[in-house]
Amino acid sequence: MAIKYVCPYCGKQYAVLDHPNATETNLGLYSLTEEDRAHIISYEANGDITASITCEYCSEALHRHPELTNPLQ
Ligand SMILES: [Zn+2]
Repeated sequence: MAIKYVCPYCGKQYAVLDHPNATETNLGLYSLTEEDRAHIISYEANGDITASITCEYCSEALHRHPELTNPLQ
């Protein structure tokens, strides 16, 4: 299966891992709460996983402008 990393802020798919035995554990996602996992990870019909994880560029931008994390407030 493939794991696609998509940034929730800019919408860019910035990495794809082709990992035949990927699990949430060996992806480093085991430390997330159930709620976080449900929010971050989505499973596609073909078995691929999409992980919504902020890209480096946006992480940097959010670090500089923390107010951007709550655009609706
Ligand atoms: Zn981004």
